[in-house]
Amino acid sequence: MTDQPVELDVLAVYSHPDDAELAAGGTLLKLKHLGHRTGVLDMTRGEMGTRGTREIREGEAHEAGRLLNLDARLNLDQPDGHVWPTEDARRATVRVLRACRPKVVLTAHWDDPHPDHANTCRIVREAARLASMRRYDEEHGQPAIRMPALAHSVYSRLVVASFIVDVSDFVEGKMAAVRAHASQFWSEGSKEPSTRISEQGFLNQVEFRLRYYGSLVGVAAGEGFYVREALNVEDPVALLTRPMNIYS
Ligand SMILES: [Zn+2]
Repeated sequence: MTDQPVELDVLAVYSHPDDAELAAGGTLLKLKHLGHRTGVLDMTRGEMGTRGTREIREGEAHEAGRLLNLDARLNLDQPDGHVWPTEDARRATVRVLRACRPKVVLTAHWDDPHPDHANTCRIVREAARLASMRRYDEEHGQPAIRMPALAHSVYSRLVVASFIVDVSDFVEGKMAAVRAHASQFWSEGSKEPSTRISEQGFLNQVEFRLRYYGSLVGVAAGEGFYVREALNVEDPVALLTRPMNIYS
């Protein structure tokens, strides 16, 4: 796993070092298993987090990336808590997209209640479009790319998933990658201040959510994504005869 941009099939862009694991860890493991080249771009080092330090979190992110079999884990070094669609953030994201040339980008949803997450989504949507424009940042010398497809993690019951990835075989792997961010989660006797995600039941809730999305398509575990654009389906028979749950 490199920390430099390399050519990828799928790039997951999230705000903080544990976000990609929580939102799309099972999907990233499955994509790698299917033979795709995968990477994560973290917008920040998570240095404003209530628990852990910048150095501890860097080590955890590296270990989690190794557990997800990523080809690359990159960081844009934007200020944690102050992720904003500035020209600097857009240009830096365009440069990563042009270097990695992903076909698909996974990211947060624009209505996510954490402002860093919502702004990461805005940066990614704008950068994906700008990366396809030849004259944008032309002086940097990278050729424009075909705009990648964008899929947004479903974080709320108010966002209906456009598709659910069956990650039944990757629950253990995802949870191991999540737990690699040990400073963020509950541990016996920790003196660190508590947060929403460091409560004892949080990791159970992550798994219950996987099970819930799996149940919507009749499998053991799933991760849901929303696509804003209409899906272009080649063969509706092949698509619609996949197992489904009529009570979803
Ligand atoms: Zn986050």
